[in-house]
Order: sequence, then C-alpha cells, then structure tokens
Amino acid sequence: MVHDNIVLGAGISGLTAAATLRHGGHEVLVLEKSRGLGGRAAARRWADLPVDHGAQFFTARSDPFRAQVAAWKELGVCHEWCRGFHRYQDASLVPPEADHHPRYACRKGMSALGSALAEANGMTIERQSKVTNVSCQSRLWTLTCEDGKSFRTRRLIVTTPPPQGADLLAEAAPGGCGFSARDRHGALLGLGRTVPGPQHPVARHPVP
Ligand SMILES: Cc1cc2nc3c(=O)[nH]c(=O)nc-3n(C[C@H](O)[C@H](O)[C@H](O)COP(=O)(O)OP(=O)(O)OC[C@H]3O[C@@H](n4cnc5c(N)ncnc54)[C@H](O)[C@@H]3O)c2cc1C
Repeated sequence: MVHDNIVLGAGISGLTAAATLRHGGHEVLVLEKSRGLGGRAAARRWADLPVDHGAQFFTARSDPFRAQVAAWKELGVCHEWCRGFHRYQDASLVPPEADHHPRYACRKGMSALGSALAEANGMTIERQSKVTNVSCQSRLWTLTCEDGKSFRTRRLIVTTPPPQGADLLAEAAPGGCGFSARDRHGALLGLGRTVPGPQHPVARHPVP
C-alpha cells in the first residue's frame, strides 16, 4: 500500500500536522517509535501520580493555538496553572510581571495533549515503529523500521528533533525528492508537494 502522507513522530508537532491533514480530508499515517504519544510533552506514572518528565507547562501566543487550548480546557485536558513566576532577588521574592500569558498545565500529565490530539482527530498511528532508514525513488518514500516493517508514501513530514531527522534523511536521495537539507535545525521538515486544505489551528512549539 502507498500512503498519501506519512508523518514521522507523534509529538505535538507531528500530531498537529497529522490533524491538519485529516481536517483537509487527506489520508495520513503517523509513525512513532515510542508506546506513548506526545513526544517530549511526556509523563510517567510514579506512585500512582502522573509526573511530567519533559515539558511541564506551556503558553498559547497565537489565536489558532488559543482556540485549541480553549477546546482542551473545555474537555478538561489542560487548565490554567499560573500567570508567571515569582523571582528571588535581593533576598526577597519578586512577584511575576503581568505579561498576560497564562501558563497551562495538565492534571493527568502533559502526555494528555498528545492523546487528546490523536483521539479528537481519529488518527491512524503505528506505535513502537522506530524508523531507521528512509529512502526515496521515483518520488515515493520508503520508510523502514527497526523491526523490518516498511511503509511507502507519496509525501513525508518529518517532525523528529531536527538533528535526528536530518541524519535519517541524509541517505535518502534528496535531489529526486525536492528535499534540501539546508536547515538542520529547522523545527519541521515537510517533504513532497504542498498539501491544499482549509485552515486548521496549528500548534506552535510550546514556549514557556
Ligand atoms: C526536560 C524537558 C523539559 C521541557 N520543558 C518545557 C516546558 O516547561 N514548557 C515548554 O513549553 N516546553 C518544554 N520543553 C520543550 C517541549 O517539550 C518541546 O519543544 C516539544 O514537546 C517538542 O515537540 P515536537 O513534537 O516538536 O518534538 P518531539 O516531542 O520530540 O516529538 C518527536 C517525536 O518523534 C519520535 N521519533 C523520533 N525519532 C523517531 C524515529 N526514528 N522513528 C519514529 N519516531 C521517532 C519521538 O519519539 C517523538 O515522539 C521541554 C523539553 C524537555 C526535554
């Protein structure tokens, strides 16, 4: 089977890209090496409590992402946690400056964001599928996983941390697929044709 789109990585970027494709009516498969979703927005259970071991909170600084956060609040996925932090200065606590940016956190742990994105958008996700090789021939991408499974796609969106993505793509034939590895530190590498579709809230990298 040849997929129309494969998104590599089920972190917030990958799941948002996949959601955007789904909203545009496109078929998409997400490949994720871990069992859990959300990537570095991650949580583990410890003494029966969720403990964030990646991002602990986030802000929303664009209207589309604020709309996404409002929907998550409504569903109980996240809540407003605070509006800034006290600083310790000259032997006293200085209250937070009013920057009008609420900080949001998730009571069930930050991995709730990944689960919510996947659930709301009915995504097809192959978990525990670590891609170890990417190749491209005649404008078709082939992704091979650690366990030998392989997937083919017309379009590939790579949302792994950039150095890992660049390493994976280094051996694929860039010339034949319109890929330029100019920016090893770009946040997201979209390969193949531009996908037409309606506007959809796009999550930014959560920035504290
Ligand atoms: C310790 C820590 C604390 C942080 N604290 C904050 C914070 O307080 N607030 C904040 O806003 N941000 C924080 N961040 C940053 C934030 O977590 C990230 O910017 C954000 O989660 C990145 O999302 P992403 O989807 O772009 O990438 P990632 O979350 O890295 O997603 C990439 C996904 O690709 C998968 N993947 C990688 N390689 C492969 C492969 N070969 N095959 C298949 N899948 C693969 C990974 O498993 C992962 O799920 C923190 C990060 C860390 C590590």
